Amino acid sequence: MAVRNGQQFLAGLKDDRVVYLGDRKVDTLTEPRFQGSLQGMAEYFDYQIENADDCLVADPEKPGEMMSASLIVPRNKEDLAIRHKALDRFARYSYGMLGRTPDYVNVVLSGHVARRDIWEKGDPVYHDRLTKFHREVIDGDLSLTHAIAHANIDKSTGDLAGMNADLTVHKVGETQNGIIVRGGKMLATLGPFTDEFYVYPSAPIPTRAERHALCFSVPSNTKGLIMFCRDHYGVDESRADAPFSSRFDEQDVFVVFDDVEVPYERLFIDGNLDVYNNVTRGVSPGNTLQQTAIRAKVKLEFAYDLCTLMARITGSEQRQDVAVMLGEIHTYMIMTKAAIIAAEERAHVWGTSGAFFPHRDLAALRSIMPEWMSRVNQIIRALGSHNMLATPSLDLFQDPDVGDMLRKYLPGANGFTAEQRAAVFRTARDFAISALAGRNELYEMFYLGSLNRARAGDHMVAQRNGWKGEVMEFLTKNGAFLKK
Ligand SMILES: Cc1cc2nc3c(=O)[nH]c(=O)nc-3n(C[C@H](O)[C@H](O)[C@H](O)COP(=O)(O)OP(=O)(O)OC[C@H]3O[C@@H](n4cnc5c(N)ncnc54)[C@H](O)[C@@H]3O)c2cc1C
Repeated sequence: MAVRNGQQFLAGLKDDRVVYLGDRKVDTLTEPRFQGSLQGMAEYFDYQIENADDCLVADPEKPGEMMSASLIVPRNKEDLAIRHKALDRFARYSYGMLGRTPDYVNVVLSGHVARRDIWEKGDPVYHDRLTKFHREVIDGDLSLTHAIAHANIDKSTGDLAGMNADLTVHKVGETQNGIIVRGGKMLATLGPFTDEFYVYPSAPIPTRAERHALCFSVPSNTKGLIMFCRDHYGVDESRADAPFSSRFDEQDVFVVFDDVEVPYERLFIDGNLDVYNNVTRGVSPGNTLQQTAIRAKVKLEFAYDLCTLMARITGSEQRQDVAVMLGEIHTYMIMTKAAIIAAEERAHVWGTSGAFFPHRDLAALRSIMPEWMSRVNQIIRALGSHNMLATPSLDLFQDPDVGDMLRKYLPGANGFTAEQRAAVFRTARDFAISALAGRNELYEMFYLGSLNRARAGDHMVAQRNGWKGEVMEFLTKNGAFLKK
């Protein structure tokens, strides 16, 4: 079963996983509030089969079998091109509204597999296990979430200092079969709709924190793994009325590992700081960002198109202030596309085990994209204003009492019908001002860590990598500084 359809994906969620939603424990598959999201995720799996030419590739180890292209371990430019095509197609399933479709963590995991040289700073058995796990993900076409951000509750101290040290996931013991881990992780998007929780390094951690230096994966129904959902923002409305909220709430959870046993075969880093502290910098900027940047590009393309339609329907496309806003989104879209092309063109071998990733400069998008995404929502609100509220349900147009009235009083400009007008502005509402839209904006702000951490990190990496400007030379030539 290398590629699953939607029904097979849903069947995989039938177990005794522990999920709390609102004020009670719920059964993922039968919980009424989850039905739209479950359907949305099931259709993602059907979609990859329907779009097999783009999304699937032949499994190199199993003749005759296919696998998700997001699980390619990239070794050359062609691998990246094939993966690019797949990631673009995957993103178009939700037009970038789903941030955490399984291809995301698949790309991360495949990047980790590609960087065997990092794992070789320790006992190679850990990377052997990781490779075996990667194979299990291919064979089962699994849905993974990742839980990497520490549950740093007290921001007056370090992520792993003070009270935070005991609250976030750490090792507390060993058994014959594995290790015991305890603590929270903030957050795990898609948690209830996954097969596995993959916990791996985020930012480097200090020497005293070996017990936090862990990488492992456990099934989502593992004893002691407890998911606490945020309120669900999916709505029980038709797809026409709520194109995103009706099926694309990817449900974030705060997860507690309440003395979870991680079997040794699923333990990929166990206290080795040399390995732990090099994983993110050695994989994320080029590899992971390929997935996130392509998704962002697809979302920006959709936003540009949507805003242009909104302007046409209100007859305001020619207005200078409106054109300026449309041009702004267009710029974000083109800049993102250009950054991806440039990074893929400059792709190269990373490390010494043949990993081939886009250039790390792609990570610059991480330091600007959150602002662009928030600005896009601001523009949608500015262009949409009350129009996003004067949007009758599309079914109401069929009502014999009021249908004609709505058609008469709420038509679009430029020959657009009232139904078309309502459909476009309902989409804009769901994109920018629904409850899910608020969560999505927060996701764009934080899913790769905070903007300030990203920017400060970019500066420090540049300096560490030997950035040399010409200012001193310029001033010296001008006689402003004495040569030593
Ligand atoms: C919807 C959503 C889904 C998510 N999904 C996942 C997931 O599935 N898995 C996962 O692991 N993580 C996930 N995350 C990310 C994670 O939860 C954190 O939100 C993220 O890492 C940032 O949180 P933080 O507390 O570490 O932020 P911080 O980096 O502490 O930032 C908090 C605030 O402090 C400011 N700040 C931080 N550092 C500095 C500094 N050096 N100088 C100045 N200001 C600073 C920031 O600008 C920010 O405003 C998700 C986040 C969201 C919002």
